[in-house]
Amino acid sequence: RGGPKNLPIAEVLVDDDDCPENSKQKHKPKLVLLGSGWGSVAILKTLNPEDYHVTVVSPVNYFLFTPMLPSATVGTLELRSLVEPIRRIVSRAKGHFLKAEAVDVELSEKLLEVAQTNAQGEECHFYLPYDKLVLGVGATTNPHGVKGLENCHFLKDIEDARLIRNKVMQNLEQACMPTTSDEERRRLLSFVVSGGGPTGVEFAAELFDMLNEDLGRSFPKILRNEISVHVIQSRGHILNTYDEALSKFAEARFAHDQVEVLTNSRVKEVQKDKILFSQKDEKGETVTKELPMGFCLWSTGVAQTELCKRIADKIDVQTNKHALETDTHLRLNGAPLGSVYAIGDCSTVQNNVADHLVHFLRSMAWEKGKDPEKMEITFPEWRDVAQRVKKRFPQAADHLRRLDKLFEQYDKDQNGTLDFGELHELLLQIDSKITSLPATAQRAHQQGQYLGRKLNKLAQAAPGMMVNEVDYGDLDEAVYKAFEYHHLGSLAYIGNSAVFDFNGLSFSGGLMAVYLWRSVYFAQSVSLRTRMLLAMDWSKRALFGRDMMN
Ligand code: FAD
Ligand code: MG
Ligand code: MG
Ligand code: MG
Ligand code: MG
Repeated sequence: RGGPKNLPIAEVLVDDDDCPENSKQKHKPKLVLLGSGWGSVAILKTLNPEDYHVTVVSPVNYFLFTPMLPSATVGTLELRSLVEPIRRIVSRAKGHFLKAEAVDVELSEKLLEVAQTNAQGEECHFYLPYDKLVLGVGATTNPHGVKGLENCHFLKDIEDARLIRNKVMQNLEQACMPTTSDEERRRLLSFVVSGGGPTGVEFAAELFDMLNEDLGRSFPKILRNEISVHVIQSRGHILNTYDEALSKFAEARFAHDQVEVLTNSRVKEVQKDKILFSQKDEKGETVTKELPMGFCLWSTGVAQTELCKRIADKIDVQTNKHALETDTHLRLNGAPLGSVYAIGDCSTVQNNVADHLVHFLRSMAWEKGKDPEKMEITFPEWRDVAQRVKKRFPQAADHLRRLDKLFEQYDKDQNGTLDFGELHELLLQIDSKITSLPATAQRAHQQGQYLGRKLNKLAQAAPGMMVNEVDYGDLDEAVYKAFEYHHLGSLAYIGNSAVFDFNGLSFSGGLMAVYLWRSVYFAQSVSLRTRMLLAMDWSKRALFGRDMMN
């Protein structure tokens, strides 16, 4: 026992002495990965087995292929096909798995507090020591402080998809009852999606396809006329964070399909049988409306998990309310250097271009014996500065293409030099453009891969360094470059909207296209088992339609 809370400390795991192979790893640096999602799996698949004593901690023992989750809600795909047992992935990396939840971290003692429910149904806590900890715990649904969310469904996990599937079927069955009134039938068949982001849009599209393609085969045709699908979106457009073309395409398809899109609308309360929302009309006046509904999906963005909130509270420099901030080497800001990393949806990379540059300018001025505040930067000097920014913040490269244009634009007094204020302004503007990375599988996968590679390098460069509690300086920067995000485009994200482009093409043609678009990370993340299951689901679906049952 030990640590601040005097809990049992798990120095040795059950299978550590299992076989000669395992006992070899026993004394390697302890690498603990939290979560079994996109980020963690990408690390596991990149890591050299045997360099670390690896332990994965996650409350679920599977990896979920989230991009296909909306398809599972209506039976296009089977739920089993979307998950992969995490133990199989972990054991290939010669790691250990604990099905438990991380609840707290003692940063200075390097102890992770883990909670698990024992056979008696009691919750017990213990400490898991680490040398390196990776937070890949994702995010949770954002309630936005709206009342009545217990009347909503969510779509984050496999269990959510199961519940949605059951509810949709239950409503269809109930609509067929002789005792159901016409009004009640219309309510049961009114499906509302709150949130016009990718998850909401894909779900609405899947639902609509199912109702259109398979309902008539198994249910009374008359139901089709009574069904309505509504998307409530707070902004002016759905998919507003994506390319305008994609957003327009989705809106056009929904208009054609008679999926009602309610823009500039905010949900105020969700009741058992109706949803209350306010809508801004053309004149900018707000009116309150209500919509009877039999099903509501809540998909209005993500919020921080309890664990991440707790960690942020412990660290003064963590002030972002939405995500844990890391430096460009993905190290958690404010934690002992090189001991904690954060990747995926739970994290954001803080750039601080401006801060970094102010530092740089100060030393530049100091070398020249000048006062930085009074410095005038000429164009060649600006080129050097930009070069430096690019090297340190690769994501900024895109915004530093036209150096002459930028120089002209920010040289407000047009005297051919940038003074300190002007340069600062310019850098702040670039900083603001590159701060947020999208909460996508694409990003989590890239970050996981990056970290896996770096961990391999670190183990090579200084084997055992993390075992001794020595200050090994900025080893991360010494052995590996900063993280650079490669945006693969929204099409690699959006499934059904991508299929929108394939109007007229066959079902399998459309899905093949999605499959290919996603193959960028699909192939690396999903095993042959899963790919075969998906292929079987798609063939079955093409031949026989969806199974209309719970
Ligand atoms: P996750 O993959 O969410 O993994 C988090 C893991 O941490 C889970 O295993 C969870 O159980 C575990 N965990 C949580 N709390 C704890 C704790 N306290 N201790 C230990 N473990 C914990 N992105 C795309 O790029 N393309 C798409 O088409 C796409 N479609 C999507 C569709 C849906 C329906 C959803 C919900 C998301 C979709 N996304 C898509 C987004 C993508 O799934 C996320 O960005 C991605 O999962 C983030 O990866 P992650 O590793 O950060 O977190
Ligand atoms: Mg993860
Ligand atoms: Mg997941
Ligand atoms: Mg804080
Ligand atoms: Mg000037």
